Amino acid sequence: MKIGTPKEVFGGENRVGMTPESAKQLQKLGYDCMIEAGAGANAGFSDALYKEAGVEVVKTAAALWKEADIVAKVRQPEAVELKRMREGQTLISFFSPAANDKGMDAAKKTGTNVIAMEMVPRISRAQKMDALSSMANIAGYRAVIEAGNNFPRFFTGQITAAGKVPPAKVLVVGAGVAGLAAIGTSTSLGAITYAFDVRPEVAEQVESMGAEFVFLDFEEEQADGAATGGYAAVSSPEFAAAQLAKFREIAPDMDIVITTALIPNREAPELWTKDMVESMKPGSVIVDLAAEKGGNCKMTVMDEKIVTDNGVTIIGYTDFPSRMAAQASTLYATNIRHMMTDLTPEKDGQINHNMEDDVIRGATVAFNKEITFPPPPPKVQ
Ligand code: NAD
Repeated sequence: MKIGTPKEVFGGENRVGMTPESAKQLQKLGYDCMIEAGAGANAGFSDALYKEAGVEVVKTAAALWKEADIVAKVRQPEAVELKRMREGQTLISFFSPAANDKGMDAAKKTGTNVIAMEMVPRISRAQKMDALSSMANIAGYRAVIEAGNNFPRFFTGQITAAGKVPPAKVLVVGAGVAGLAAIGTSTSLGAITYAFDVRPEVAEQVESMGAEFVFLDFEEEQADGAATGGYAAVSSPEFAAAQLAKFREIAPDMDIVITTALIPNREAPELWTKDMVESMKPGSVIVDLAAEKGGNCKMTVMDEKIVTDNGVTIIGYTDFPSRMAAQASTLYATNIRHMMTDLTPEKDGQINHNMEDDVIRGATVAFNKEITFPPPPPKVQ
């Protein structure tokens, strides 16, 4: 069978779903690999590199979609791509099944089997295919780098002949995958780093990374993450108020705030309010990784960088992984390659779409002209 990767059509997307290295691994599984000409150029992978890796370079997207038995890409298909899907083909990409009626309809009508990378169950066995985590890791790292690039001082404290420089103070709100990557980056740059999450069980992880967990003076048990598959639940109004009061108290002292707080299938909770922004020092920076879901700070403008009247920079970019396209493509293509390994138990270049397999079943959102989303809960954790 042939696996093909087209150039991403979404404007400004630099990532690519196959790298020369992942193609070599896919060939070991028995597949022939194809790539659309120029598909890897923005991620630093030239057509020549693909050719060297044994990949056929195809001139047009139309030809690639026509020939490929399996299409592996990054973004959910755009309208022009939905028209190219066809019966018996397998598509592996992000797909937003809950908010992509057109895509789901097209999959059902055309009979394309769709594996949605964001639906890979978050169980240990599937970690190597967890593209949400690999992209969140990059977003967290890049958020700190982007903050540093816009921050007019050092992260680390210094004592030099020219004077004493205090370390920057960084607060990371939400300590999931992105938040933990941000914490690691921030501490390694030498900033005094604080972190908060509604799931108290992450306090230990935060502290082991050299940051300080911000505890609330609050009696009630914090939200029980275990009940929601490791994700945060909605906080009680009293808890949310205590959290805001704490943030209000520390806001004037923070130089950089990275917000990453999300609750699945909901608008991002407002955690960094206008008055907190107004209390921050000029030159401070906020990077709002929840911008795509409305922002943890409502002053955030999605995909833009703004500077407030009191000189606080607020960054609402939503394309951090694409800004590190080589790294993001390498990790994403590896996630896809692992998915293909599971789909090819015999290493014979033939897909075995085993719907009894928890991971494959969980990620499959359309199969044999049926919508198979949402999936049943996984049997093993
Ligand atoms: P996410 O992107 O959904 O959310 C980011 C963080 O924001 C979460 O830690 C969440 O608790 C926190 N948050 C939500 N509301 C908040 C609020 N009001 N104030 C402060 N923080 C708030 O999270 P994620 O990065 O996808 O990770 C979620 C969980 O899943 C984590 O425990 C992570 O370790 C776990 N996980 C497990 C696996 C696996 O087992 N394979 C893989 C990835 C993630």
